[in-house]
Amino acid sequence: MQLQGVGMTSQRTRQRLAQRLMDQGVSNIAVLDIMSATPRHIFLDEALSHRAYEDTALPIGYGQTLSQPYIVARMTEILIGASSSLDCVLEVGTGSGYQTAVLAQVVKKLYSVERIKPLQDKARERIRRLGFRNVEFKHADGGFGWAEKGPFNAILSAAAPRIVPEELKAQLAPNGVLVIPVGGDRQELQLIVRKGDTDKFMTQVIEPVKFVPLLAGVTR
Ligand code: SAH
Repeated sequence: MQLQGVGMTSQRTRQRLAQRLMDQGVSNIAVLDIMSATPRHIFLDEALSHRAYEDTALPIGYGQTLSQPYIVARMTEILIGASSSLDCVLEVGTGSGYQTAVLAQVVKKLYSVERIKPLQDKARERIRRLGFRNVEFKHADGGFGWAEKGPFNAILSAAAPRIVPEELKAQLAPNGVLVIPVGGDRQELQLIVRKGDTDKFMTQVIEPVKFVPLLAGVTR
């Protein structure tokens, strides 16, 4: 598939998407630039690629979805705004790799964990094709974080646990931030910040969201 895209996958279509995101309240210019520069269509199967710039979640197989552009932009913007450093960042739930591609452009080093092996393999190939060299992948249950690579300045989860895993909080660096959807049928996006180098955390509720659940264990 073409990287640049034509027609419904073209640069112009992506710019319209960035405009829509701005209308929805995304205000970080760097994030809007990245959203208009990052091809979303290569993260979908060819049959769906013409819908890549609609602001909706789209199926990527295995019962999982490519996140809605608005939520990708919003979470990235929150991460940038809340963290003092983005040197070392963890993503839980690689999925298609779209959020991975967006994050790779704002952080120094990105670690991304996915529990479904075929999704991870596809995502890794897409990230390689786009030329990002600052991303490492792991096939594992991301609910346990990735302790060897931490502590992290920021952690972003694209899957919702019912309660926030202690391991993720434990792997936050001083002043580190965790952006995570939490809940079951009803979910809210939370921003959790470690207070300095203490074991105290501040939780802020951002907005209601709808994510796939964070599941235990891995799938081959
Ligand atoms: N931002 C991604 C969202 C994918 S959906 C995208 O735009 O494509 C969330 C992903 O989290 C799914 O791929 C799912 O398999 C993964 N996931 C769910 N529970 C997980 C866990 N415990 N560890 C790692 N990944 C998990």
